[in-house]
Amino acid sequence: MTRLVPTRIELARPLPPLTYLAPEGIPAGLRVKVKLRTGSLVGVVLGPDPAPPQVKLRPIEAVVDPFPLLPPKLRALLEFAGNYYGCGLPHLMALCLPAGVQADWETPSPDGRPFSDFREANDWLALEALGQAWHEGRWPLPGLFHRRSLRGAGVTEVRRTSQPHPLKVTPTQARVLSVLEEGGGAAREEDLLANAKVGVSVLATLERNGLIERVRRLDLLSQKREESPARHVILNEEQQRAFAAVDLTKFGAYLLYGVTGSGKTEIYLELAEMVLAQGRRVLWLVPEIGLTPRLLVRLEGRFPGQVAVGHAGLNMTEKQADVMRLLNDEAPIFVGVRNAVLAPLRNIGLIVVDEEQESSYKSEEHPRIHARDLAIKRAQLEDCPVILGSATPSLESWHAAQSGRYRLLKLTQRPAGSTLPTVKIVDLRECYKTERKKVVFSPLLLKALQETLEQGQQSMLLLNRRGFENFWMCRACGKPLDCPHCAISLTYHKGSYRLRCHLCGFEAAPPEVCPACGAEHLRGVGEGTEQIEDQLQARFPTARILRLDRDTTQRRGSLEAGLLAAEHGEVDILVGTQMLAKGHTFPKLTLVGILNADMGLKISDFRAAERTFHLLTQVAGRAGRAELPGRVLLQTYSPDHPAIIHAVAQNFEAFAEEELPYRQGMAYPPFAALSLYRSEGDTPEDALAPLQSLKARLQAIAGLRILGPLEAPIPKVKDRYRMQLILKAWTRAPLSEALCVAPLPPGGAITLDRDPQSFGV
Ligand code: ADP
Ligand code: ZN
Repeated sequence: MTRLVPTRIELARPLPPLTYLAPEGIPAGLRVKVKLRTGSLVGVVLGPDPAPPQVKLRPIEAVVDPFPLLPPKLRALLEFAGNYYGCGLPHLMALCLPAGVQADWETPSPDGRPFSDFREANDWLALEALGQAWHEGRWPLPGLFHRRSLRGAGVTEVRRTSQPHPLKVTPTQARVLSVLEEGGGAAREEDLLANAKVGVSVLATLERNGLIERVRRLDLLSQKREESPARHVILNEEQQRAFAAVDLTKFGAYLLYGVTGSGKTEIYLELAEMVLAQGRRVLWLVPEIGLTPRLLVRLEGRFPGQVAVGHAGLNMTEKQADVMRLLNDEAPIFVGVRNAVLAPLRNIGLIVVDEEQESSYKSEEHPRIHARDLAIKRAQLEDCPVILGSATPSLESWHAAQSGRYRLLKLTQRPAGSTLPTVKIVDLRECYKTERKKVVFSPLLLKALQETLEQGQQSMLLLNRRGFENFWMCRACGKPLDCPHCAISLTYHKGSYRLRCHLCGFEAAPPEVCPACGAEHLRGVGEGTEQIEDQLQARFPTARILRLDRDTTQRRGSLEAGLLAAEHGEVDILVGTQMLAKGHTFPKLTLVGILNADMGLKISDFRAAERTFHLLTQVAGRAGRAELPGRVLLQTYSPDHPAIIHAVAQNFEAFAEEELPYRQGMAYPPFAALSLYRSEGDTPEDALAPLQSLKARLQAIAGLRILGPLEAPIPKVKDRYRMQLILKAWTRAPLSEALCVAPLPPGGAITLDRDPQSFGV
């Protein structure tokens, strides 16, 4: 009879740990199923509860894992991250181990007894030893997971093997083989079944006989690309030098710095091949999957059937299937976005973080991890190299490379040819003087658009503000129309004839009169992408215009579809927000217009200049990549701002040289470290109180500067008032100490954003 003892269990919910009765000796870190008022949930065992609450405790419903399923080094990473970001293990585990990935308790152990026997005997130590053997590859467990109907991401391709066609086959088998031969030796499973008019069992027989093989591929066919991905390039001298500098035998952080097209990806691919040849695995992080289809084509072409992909667009079964593939060591390369840094790969030999400066690597919701930072920690734990790649590195990484913590590898050429575009500033102050009114499109830009259209080439216009008008205000009383629930103005969307709050989603029909003073003098201020599209269409009635912003790309896949249409030349002018900045190359794109380059500079945020620089250089880099030379027109009211001057010159190093001393002088990252604590309440006082008591507890920590509590930049969202407290220190240690002195219970009043990207919104 199993003895049950009070055990603390944490759930991936904003709740403090709860106490249940669980089998004695069950190790910390195992997942268990428990009942909560709202239903059954998976939680993680923290350990026995020495002082259980004096109420009738409920037993757990089931133990989910026979032993910890995550590889030991990943568990160490989660522990680090939990302490660093001040969040519980289950919240991190939820990012890398879907609840549906569960081991089969009937799996036989080496002596033939099923795992469930050990559970009945409460022999958790024996189970843990079995798990250890599995993680170390001493004992493969192909049947460990419930697979049932999991199909995984991608498609199944059927390929003819080199085994000769046997003399005698059944008619159904013959049909399969001949359809395959007509298709050049390979076909999608679905198509094959339909064309040969056979069932899956026929394929299974053929596979058993060694005549065909079935391989899972990424679903690249939906992308319909003509290029041949497997082309093998020979690294040039510069690339060769960078490649040879990476020591694959031990930990090292490298910053691979080179303009887009300088051949960084080819270097990662070469390194990946070496790592795979050693029987080790590759973890490859990208900012966004939808925008890197070419990379997936190249990877799949080079390492067919060996790549798994993780991203937010996958459904639950696809995620589960991917995780099982990794745990079964079936996919030696894992490509994914942010949370993929926690993917359950074992025996990692290389970590790649491409476009390392991208802010999407930092999570803006709990747990607020930074994938790039965790990638470095993970490489340390795995004792392997980590390569951060970028054309415009983050100042953090650049500073680390300058100070020798990272090794700098530099690429200066573009092997495939093509030159950088010419960038020209259009001073909007001058335009204002001559036109005597605010202009959206300068005469120069209009002329360039006209020419580009006439030449049958493509243009791209960027304005980082969606909607039709930024806000409405009353000319009589001067008041803007604000969201009733948030401290920001409503944005006018003409297409839906709505005023909308971009924070809480509140919507209303535009009023006839000012709600404050009753005057009939409401007017819109500040154009957004929707209006730009309208104005363009009026000026160029025959042009095919496509707008891409968050309003037009809500449906899954619609952004990709739009970009693909542009790539195929079905669009003359692309209008959009910063989502246009990355990804696809458009062969006929020769003109890029940035309508208001200062927009991001007005935000009072220490990273505003850096962000603007990244955005501008990235968009500028989109023009004229192929045979056609490109030009960029950058409209601005502040042509003298360093971010703009250096973006025009496309000179990252000069920008960094000017920006870093400012960061140092102001004690901002990368020189100092920050923690941002936030609390919310129904009244401003409610929001303030917890931060004041937190501040009192932190006063004694040496080397810590405490700023606030103050109102958050947007002091009210969804009827909740928001306050914040900022901690600053020259090293990270005092900030970690703050978390020890004052741990934040999950579900408590205060949330923490460690290493915030900004002082918040
Ligand atoms: P990045 O990752 O820096 O943007 P890529 O690795 O994607 O650059 O290279 C850009 C283009 O140049 C690709 O089409 C790639 O195949 C090609 N390329 C890269 N290195 C070489 C090389 N050594 N020889 C020929 N083509 C190359
Ligand atoms: Zn709102």
